Amino acid sequence: MSARTGMGYDSHRFEPGERFILGGVEIPDVPFGTVGHSDADALAHAVIDALLGAAGLGDIGFHFPDSDERWRDANSIELLAQTCTLVEESGFSVTYVDATVICEAPKLGPFRDEMRAALALTIGVPVGSVSVKFKTNEGMGWVGRGEGIAVMAVATLERGS
Ligand SMILES: [Zn+2]
Repeated sequence: MSARTGMGYDSHRFEPGERFILGGVEIPDVPFGTVGHSDADALAHAVIDALLGAAGLGDIGFHFPDSDERWRDANSIELLAQTCTLVEESGFSVTYVDATVICEAPKLGPFRDEMRAALALTIGVPVGSVSVKFKTNEGMGWVGRGEGIAVMAVATLERGS
């Protein structure tokens, strides 16, 4: 068995009045959300880059450029599904995804299982093969000031399916 690992990182700025979508889940009752060309789902984007990295397929900006009107307000879960098709076509299957969300507020822990379920369903793996973790930045820097959100992700693939 030949295993491959990829890492991904993404960040988005918060602005008042925007929707806050993370891991395919809309976070309710938040007076701000993430700004971006697509739906600005930083968790989905970090996972996409981790998967593309493990498969040696470049990055999200190469496959879904924000200069392309096709991806304006795109549903990032749909982009993740397309990414998984690319990964499979390259001869890999996904074995595990782990992500760390760094966000000062709101508390996101209550949405963990819903995000894991949405990601796992899209990737086509059991929920137990997707991990999502949450941290604050202890008040430090731009994340600590609540200016935006950052996400790191790691994906493991194996050759064959
Ligand atoms: Zn993004």
